[in-house]
Amino acid sequence: MQTVRHFFPDLNAWLDRLPDSRVQEACTYSTRFLAWWGLLLYLLQLGSRRQLDYDLREGGPQVLPNLNRLAGTAQASLPVHDTLDHFVGHTPRAGWEGLRARLVRRLVRMKALDAARLLGLPVLLIDATGLLCFPRRQCPHCLTQRHGKHTLYLHQVLEAKLLGPGGVVLSLGSEFIDNADAADARGKSAEEVKQDCELKALARLLPRVHHEHPQLRFVLSWDSLYGCGTAFALAEPYDWPFVATFKEGRTPALWQEYQALLQACPKNRLRREWGDGLVQEYRWVQRLDYEDSEGREWQLAALECRERTAAGQEQYFAWLTPLPVGKKTVEEIARKGGRYRWKIENEGFNRQKNSGLNLEHVYSTDPEKWPVYYLLLQIAFILVQLLERGSLLRRLAAETGRPVGKLFGSLKNIARRLLESLRFVPWAEEWFDPALAGKLRIGLDSS
Ligand SMILES: [Zn+2]
Repeated sequence: MQTVRHFFPDLNAWLDRLPDSRVQEACTYSTRFLAWWGLLLYLLQLGSRRQLDYDLREGGPQVLPNLNRLAGTAQASLPVHDTLDHFVGHTPRAGWEGLRARLVRRLVRMKALDAARLLGLPVLLIDATGLLCFPRRQCPHCLTQRHGKHTLYLHQVLEAKLLGPGGVVLSLGSEFIDNADAADARGKSAEEVKQDCELKALARLLPRVHHEHPQLRFVLSWDSLYGCGTAFALAEPYDWPFVATFKEGRTPALWQEYQALLQACPKNRLRREWGDGLVQEYRWVQRLDYEDSEGREWQLAALECRERTAAGQEQYFAWLTPLPVGKKTVEEIARKGGRYRWKIENEGFNRQKNSGLNLEHVYSTDPEKWPVYYLLLQIAFILVQLLERGSLLRRLAAETGRPVGKLFGSLKNIARRLLESLRFVPWAEEWFDPALAGKLRIGLDSS
């Protein structure tokens, strides 16, 4: 709680601003109270809306008083799960997007994420993932995918996640991919349809991110799907550089030119030998000319990392970027712009799918509400990560003489302990004192 107050002293006031005021008057519960009720669904990793009733409503003597302390309210009763669904229907998606933007802006201003910057710029990891999958059409926006005789109806999202220290990835922009993106799918391969969808969603995502964070110049971290002129042209208006996975199959001519020029630049080489026997060899070419299929001309650098472990395992990576690649920058670009991309897959999507966050669960029967539940999950996950990676938890563990992992056993257990505490432990007023929380020094784990 102190971690949340420390980073976001005005969070309750921000929650009040979620819906328009008309809605607030019609409801027995205050907006901030219901917003916390919804966030708890994910903070406590309950897995489904029904679980709110079992775990909280009938859950323990301290739930109501603790929730009132958390929200700064004086509600006389707890809501049922349908109340949340009703509330979600009346809080527009834009309200939640605005809240997420405030949370991220505050963390940026506090410089809490600065250790993860690449050449001084914040890194945005961009990737798409499947959200929901049904055997029957659910809404007019379902993407369709044929599998033999069967058709699957899908919902997908393109995410922009801001890279923080210690493996933290914070959701910053979400664009839902729908059937308009795949409108001209006829006669195209599955891979081409996927490219179409994601690039069209990217064309909506980048202007939205720029609109919400006009003061930030990002570096975009992309997989090979975005290693093409269409994506470069979408980033160009904002002067956002990128690091895109470089694959022969995506831009064959450029790949050949790169291989030829590498031979001509034998000095562009950096070798690192690590204590555990790991050897990394970086090579790069500073100026590659590339004309895309629309006749646009680009000048890019290409870099590669060849890695061999002591056991003899080899890996090869290559990237394209307009950033200045040289002996001083090549490692940082490869690491933060390239290698850390797996974090969006791992700590972003996999964690959200394979935990009580239950990303692929249908939280409402109303498709119109799915984006709001999605945003609730993303906002709660920002708070979860600050709690897990913040130094308060590490200090607590240190006081008991055990590392965080040993103290709780697993990340899932942290959520379970939080639930037990909400149910049975009267939360002290001073935990919510913004002056006290403001004096704390909380850093994110950068080990
Ligand atoms: Zn649908």
